[in-house]
Amino acid sequence: MTRSVTTESRLSRNAHDYIHDTELEKLLGAPSDPHQVRDIVAKSLAKEPLKVEETAALINATDPELVESIFAAARQLKRDVYGNRIVLFAPLYIGNYCINDCEYCGFRRTNLDAVRRTLKPEEVLQQVTALLRRGHKRLIIVFGEHPHYTPQYIADTVRSIYEVKTPNAEIRRVNVNAAPLDHEGFRIVRESGIGTYQIFQETYHHATYSAVHPSSTRKGDYLWRLDALDRAWEAGCDDVGIGALFGLYDWRFEVLALVTHARHMMQKFNCGPHTISFPRLRPASGVAIDPRWLVNDEDFKRLVAILRLSVPYSGMILTARESAAIRRELLGFGVSQIDAGSRIELGGYTEAGDAQQQVREREQFELGDIRSLDNVVRQLLQDGYIPSFCTACYRVGRTGEQFMEYAIPGFIQKFCTPNALTTLQEYLVDHASPETRAAGEQIIQRELDKTPPSAGKEELERRINRIASSDDRDLYY
Ligand code: SAM
Ligand code: SF4
Repeated sequence: MTRSVTTESRLSRNAHDYIHDTELEKLLGAPSDPHQVRDIVAKSLAKEPLKVEETAALINATDPELVESIFAAARQLKRDVYGNRIVLFAPLYIGNYCINDCEYCGFRRTNLDAVRRTLKPEEVLQQVTALLRRGHKRLIIVFGEHPHYTPQYIADTVRSIYEVKTPNAEIRRVNVNAAPLDHEGFRIVRESGIGTYQIFQETYHHATYSAVHPSSTRKGDYLWRLDALDRAWEAGCDDVGIGALFGLYDWRFEVLALVTHARHMMQKFNCGPHTISFPRLRPASGVAIDPRWLVNDEDFKRLVAILRLSVPYSGMILTARESAAIRRELLGFGVSQIDAGSRIELGGYTEAGDAQQQVREREQFELGDIRSLDNVVRQLLQDGYIPSFCTACYRVGRTGEQFMEYAIPGFIQKFCTPNALTTLQEYLVDHASPETRAAGEQIIQRELDKTPPSAGKEELERRINRIASSDDRDLYY
């Protein structure tokens, strides 16, 4: 797509295309030196971000022993550095009209089977109320790209969600996944109080990008999208999420490009992306999937572990596109956030009917894990994790919390774990099934037993008891 002068002037400062396909391709395929791989793993364990060449060396390490050492390091980082909290959220699809024609997506404009809908204000309220009743505190709202979904429209939707109240509950953080905006657009959306603005490049490989995004469409402009979160940053959104849709091109290339993107942000803004997402391509209405680059489970595990080691300061999001079994296994590799109880049909939280039945024409793609929130929480607890609904940092202005978690000694013990425990306690008291509540109380007790008095054990215990015995909520640190 030729960019017009107007678009050019709307890019960020010094915007340029820094993804050089041939240079990244050249790094792939060289045999890895086992000593070098061990040094790189040690660097990750010391919490240092990796250079692109170092990530490539991990990707090129295919010897089973080396692969196992990479998995072990990812597990160790999770255990020793990030702790055992898993933050929970739910996606809320607001509208699926779309002017783009992305080959892989059920919402693309040429898919005439798609049932198109934009939730009316009262329907947004109904969905949010249903989510609150189940216990959610964090949402990501999702939009197609359409002139109707203006920045003001997105901002108004965010505000209306924050206004919904049920007894003891309100949504405390709304993240957004929507089209790239210009500076003014990002400013308008930021003022509504969003958390993270997510935009996935889908594929960083230029030829593939052009093949799956027709050049006649808005999304066909590679640089407009690559530069989007730089504009967001310049407009004051300092909390942004990047991602790639795995299965469009060689996963190894996409990992190198994601690391390049994260390093670019670090260099330009002195802060990397808050989150990295790595969705795998799923079947979707009207979509014929090209199987050439689909990522198998073993490679998927490798890519998640390698991303964890390469970009230690970013949160890692694993969505319900994946099956319950894969999610369970990958949690141990440093994943920090998952969605749960998700429905992605428009209106799905009140209209889905049989929980096991997905309606393909109503959703963007099929989900792999549609267990209820209560089920997911219980499984996490049984596996020893602390399910967390914490939203504290963003609300007290501690932005870049993910960065602080890993960089500031004691940060997790001082803020993250107590906030995870108090929000878990809210969930247990207000929403959990008796079985989940029993499992949760055990985990809370286990964590309290581990907390030394010098780390505020007494105060934490007091807050946890207060939640159980009164209507006091939101007692965050
Ligand atoms: N329309 C906005 C955009 O394209 O940026 C919002 C994003 S879309 C509603 C959310 C994400 O879903 C996309 O960025 C893409 O990565 C992912 N997605 C699209 N089709 C998919 C499929 N068939 N399987 C898995 N993920 C898919
Ligand atoms: Fe539209 Fe986004 Fe789907 Fe592309 S991925 S067709 S832009 S909703």
